[in-house]
Amino acid sequence: MAKYTIVLIPGDGIGPEVTSAARRVLEATGLSVEWVVLPAGATAIDQGLGDVLPQRTLAAITAHKICLKGPVTTPVGGGFQSVNVQLRKKLNLYAAIRPVRSMPGIKTRFENVDLIIVRENTEGLYSGIENEVIPGVVTSLKVATEVACTRIARYAFRYATRRKRRKVTVFHKANIMKMTDGLFLKCARRIWEEEYPNIDYEELIIDAGCMKLIQDPTRFDVLLMENLYGDLMSDLCAGLVGGLGVTPGANIGDDAAIFEAVHGSAPDLAGKGWANPLAVIMSGVMMLRHLHEDALADKLRNAYNAVLSERTKLTRDLNGEASTEEFADAVISKLV
Ligand code: NAD
Repeated sequence: MAKYTIVLIPGDGIGPEVTSAARRVLEATGLSVEWVVLPAGATAIDQGLGDVLPQRTLAAITAHKICLKGPVTTPVGGGFQSVNVQLRKKLNLYAAIRPVRSMPGIKTRFENVDLIIVRENTEGLYSGIENEVIPGVVTSLKVATEVACTRIARYAFRYATRRKRRKVTVFHKANIMKMTDGLFLKCARRIWEEEYPNIDYEELIIDAGCMKLIQDPTRFDVLLMENLYGDLMSDLCAGLVGGLGVTPGANIGDDAAIFEAVHGSAPDLAGKGWANPLAVIMSGVMMLRHLHEDALADKLRNAYNAVLSERTKLTRDLNGEASTEEFADAVISKLV
């Protein structure tokens, strides 16, 4: 019997391609796993299941507690509510963790970038509470609760402590959103003062924070922010280290965790076999660490670092010519 049962959601667009490559790579590490493959997103509708987040998929994640997920497509300006938002809310996956690191062999404007985005994942403007006041006037409600703000702040400081990080920086806009961002800031400051005074702490208004981030990302360590800012900053930071093909992520709650890349379903690349599977593979490494399989995680990280350093099997987003599968094969060939 396999040691782990993990739910695998292939997702939409490039999702099936990159998750299939990541699955092969993870199995090649020696991970003892049984995959429960289930649909979500537009794929679930195409399969006639009538719901972008079928009950079976949600129940499987609840039961097995671990999921590796491909990206899913979300319609713009109408249609169904984002599957990701639904999953994060229904499973209370309150912390999104996105490590952003300079990678060997990938030349960008900056070197030695090593920061972690900790994003509140359940509220803010993602509450989806929008209404039409009168024709031509619509509102969107930004929600902040003391429980969620405190929970994410504590998560960020605890994470920083465990990972031997030195500083937590909060990005906020509490000068304008005095109540919502003000509460977020107040909770972060209180957790720092009362529980983690040994960690350096900094507050930056997000516009100035963006400028500082682009001038010198190496001055940052752990970045803590509410939901929407975390979403925007994740892609911005991905751009600092080589793009969305190299930026993994985890959505963590007390009862379940979903590991997925920061990138979306990339409809422009779907079906071409060119997508970079590395971000999902790296999300797999985060999953291995979550399972306390550190030896397998180290082995896999060393393998993809070796492939990146050699620069002969890079995908097109990294100026190479390798296909999704060729990159995965190269990583597997380096697993020792
Ligand atoms: P995207 O992240 O899918 O793509 C942005 C750009 O990055 C595109 O040019 C794409 O080709 C490139 N890219 C993304 N991943 C890549 C990879 N692995 N390898 C090489 N290039 C890659 O963002 P988008 O186009 O704005 O969104 C497409 C869809 O994905 C939307 O429906 C959006 O809602 C959804 N989305 C889903 C998730 C998720 O499921 N977690 C996250 C973000 C966006």
